[in-house]
Amino acid sequence: MTRKTMLAILIATSTLTAYTQSTSLQEPAVPGQAAVARPPAAKPAMAGKVTTQNYGDVTLHTYLSPDDGFLLNTQIVETPAGLVIFDGNFFTKYATEVADYVQGLGKPIERIVLSHMHPDHYSGLTVLHARFPSAPIYAFPEVTEYVKAKGQATLDARNKAFGGAVAKTVTVPTHVLVEGTTEIGSVPFVFEKARDGEADWQTVVKLPKQHVLMAFDLVFPKNTHLFTVVDHFEPWIRTLEGFKPLRGQGYTTILVGHGQTTDFDALDGNIAYLRGAIAAHKASKTPEEYAKRLKDEYPSYYGGPWVDFSSLMLYGVINP
Ligand SMILES: [Zn+2]
Repeated sequence: MTRKTMLAILIATSTLTAYTQSTSLQEPAVPGQAAVARPPAAKPAMAGKVTTQNYGDVTLHTYLSPDDGFLLNTQIVETPAGLVIFDGNFFTKYATEVADYVQGLGKPIERIVLSHMHPDHYSGLTVLHARFPSAPIYAFPEVTEYVKAKGQATLDARNKAFGGAVAKTVTVPTHVLVEGTTEIGSVPFVFEKARDGEADWQTVVKLPKQHVLMAFDLVFPKNTHLFTVVDHFEPWIRTLEGFKPLRGQGYTTILVGHGQTTDFDALDGNIAYLRGAIAAHKASKTPEEYAKRLKDEYPSYYGGPWVDFSSLMLYGVINP
């Protein structure tokens, strides 16, 4: 059996398993979180769901794709003046739902921001760019350079693996994201860079007035496997330790890249998981061994198939 066939089978199995596990993902309700928003009645129901949190004149809209879309979030910050959209989602059909939802909000798009250089976050930028061609797309230069250099090849590989479900052509960010505090629509956003975490470069966003940390794929919900696709375990742990003091500054909510919005209680579990991953990585010669160790250590965690996929990336079998 070729590696490609093995990968196709793995992905098909992953999708099925993910569906059967869907009921096991439970997070405590986040204060201030409202009921699931539904699209306008005239349109067919979305496969993904949107959760909103209201903070006076600022509303956070979190679009969460279904299990077969890796529970990918697109975060939308609605300010009095317009929308700031973070990440484009992965599969084209879910990015289209995001675009429909954004259109339904009926406000100008101030900017779209790409959090990091993984295709599950930039694939859908192509859908958003087609729908909203004048919206500027921001990213840190390191992220943009990577997407420019390797984005198309990565999308081609993912299209082969996922039956053409992702964008056919890559959309490269157009604007340089600047570190520091920027007021957008009179709302302060603090943009920071985190190096060597779940990806080589990751955007961290703080909303100091709302006490919300947008950590994207640096933080995963409780009882969920992390994507460990590169050997950056130690610096990733240091980044998570660095988030902890925010709690003392009144921060409560953490918006994540995959799965439901979480809080600062998730950090210790994430750190323990990464320490487990370090040990599993040291003890394993193959991706299969590594994946088995982690799944055996955390049998009740959501996302077992994510571990199989991550392991193939960590050991260079999937590249790009
Ligand atoms: Zn991701």
